Amino acid sequence: MTTFKDLGVHPEICAPLERKGITTPFAIQEMTLSVALQGTDLIGQARTGSGKTLAFGIPVVQRSVSPKDSDYVDLPQGKPQALIVAPTRELAMQVSAEISLISEDRGLRVLTVYGGAGYEPQIDALESGVDIVVGTPGRLIDLANRKVLDLSHVHALVLDEADEMLDLGFLPDVEKLVTLTPETRQTLLFSATMPGAIVALARSYMRHPMNIRAESSTERETVPATAQFVYQAHDLDKPEMIGRLLQCEDHDKVVVFARTKRQAQRVADDLADRGFPASPLHGDMQQAARERVMQKFRDGKVEVLVATDVAARGIDVTGVSHVVNYTTPDDEKTYVHRIGRTGRAGASGVAVTLVDWADLHKWKMINKALDLPFDEPLETYSSSEHFLHDMGIPKGTKGRIKKATPDRPKDNPKDKDAGADGEKRERAPRNRNRQRTRSRGGQVVEKSGAPAAAGSNPEPGEAKSEGTAPRRRRRRRSSGGSSAPKADA
Ligand code: ADP
Ligand code: MG
Repeated sequence: MTTFKDLGVHPEICAPLERKGITTPFAIQEMTLSVALQGTDLIGQARTGSGKTLAFGIPVVQRSVSPKDSDYVDLPQGKPQALIVAPTRELAMQVSAEISLISEDRGLRVLTVYGGAGYEPQIDALESGVDIVVGTPGRLIDLANRKVLDLSHVHALVLDEADEMLDLGFLPDVEKLVTLTPETRQTLLFSATMPGAIVALARSYMRHPMNIRAESSTERETVPATAQFVYQAHDLDKPEMIGRLLQCEDHDKVVVFARTKRQAQRVADDLADRGFPASPLHGDMQQAARERVMQKFRDGKVEVLVATDVAARGIDVTGVSHVVNYTTPDDEKTYVHRIGRTGRAGASGVAVTLVDWADLHKWKMINKALDLPFDEPLETYSSSEHFLHDMGIPKGTKGRIKKATPDRPKDNPKDKDAGADGEKRERAPRNRNRQRTRSRGGQVVEKSGAPAAAGSNPEPGEAKSEGTAPRRRRRRRSSGGSSAPKADA
């Protein structure tokens, strides 16, 4: 039996739980704790009574700095480090009771705020300093408007019972609260169901959220550990999308699934031409050639494998961070099988499915069979804000890191070597070093290898070098105000 201790829960959090006789995690807790404790964004779905409160409560408390920690003095004193939003007063009080329990030994101050109660005690408490605030949306906004609640140091935000907040009409308030917290926070969203509005909320405010469901036993093993994204995409734009994806913040090995051998070959060639070490893997290749490719993929010399289902059977490679379905898989079994290829020790994998207009119906069948929340995939281009945001692609990234060969046939003939089997690597520096780093003082440092003001970069030469690439991308500069990382540490 796994215990909370086994999952990395702090002894000072285990102790009060043990005093209540709670030592073994429930399913949703076991599935979420190890990832949430690392600061990953999370969408948790499980029915009432399944233990969702501790599933978010433990990470929130453990990742807060306690007065017992030496770096507590570095904090902006008394400003909330974490915010938990619940739809009703009763739920806020219940959550608060559990958070208080597990905060006891850590010495964290927990405050509950809700409407229908006097302002004075809540304001007094805020003024004397609190670490974790639990509350209902309306009162939280009130207090923020009165400038007694400062959310600018919140490193963890929980939206509990999100679907109920939607039903009660609180979504605008919730969005407002979200925007008052730093963009670099960890966001945890829990909901019993996933209506479209909640999916949209998650899509706009969460970063690579991992979807975890602890409910239906049938597909249970498929979904954990994989963050899924489904986009309605256009065939001509897909290579550009993948080219950009290959420069996202945190990628490792990538497997792209193609429908046919020819498609696998074509996509691999296109990616290689764009400068990425890509190789096809399909049934027309000799066994020896396939083994060579697999070895290079394992060694990291080939970074992108473009495979057909048949050829990919039995691929067992660790370190696959992303699976891309270049086209919609034929059925839910294939889908589940493909996305099961991601996931790295302790880290979540990402599965991206590109659905052609003509495949929408097919996708909806899969979505329904697996009870996933992506019934209406958003129309998406390589330049779409939400795509860049979901994938963690720095603004201004192009899907090509090498000039197109057809444009400059006379250019050095050595270029022939580049690509297909990845011997020659003319890579732009990766942006993988850009990550959120949180000093334990609750401050957030946005580390970035990329120029800070990427938005103003005129990107010289883009028109010339990309004759064959799709055209839609001008909309990129919609400068979607909210998503620029703030360097306000
Ligand atoms: P949910 O939010 O999913 O509706 P709660 O978090 O309110 O569920 O948990 C329901 C009840 O189960 C609470 O009384 C809680 O204290 C208890 N509980 C939670 N986790 C455990 C556990 N691991 N072992 C025993 N009891 C637990
Ligand atoms: Mg609950």
